[in-house]
Amino acid sequence: MKQRKVNCPSCGKIVVWETNPFRPFCSERCKTNDLAQWATESYRIPETEQNLDQDPKEQ
Ligand SMILES: [Zn+2]
Repeated sequence: MKQRKVNCPSCGKIVVWETNPFRPFCSERCKTNDLAQWATESYRIPETEQNLDQDPKEQ
C-alpha cells in the first residue's frame, strides 16, 4: 500500500496524504492558520504594491 507524502504548505512538515483529514496541511491549526494568512495577504496586496512604488525614505 503506497502512501503519498506531501509537505504541509504552512509549516513544511511531511504528512501522509491519504490519511490526513486536513490535507494538504498537517493539522487543523496549520489549515486555519494558512487560510487566515492567505486572506490577510490578499487584503494587503494593493496597499503593499503602492508602498513599493513610493519610497518612504526621501533621500
Ligand atoms: Zn503544518
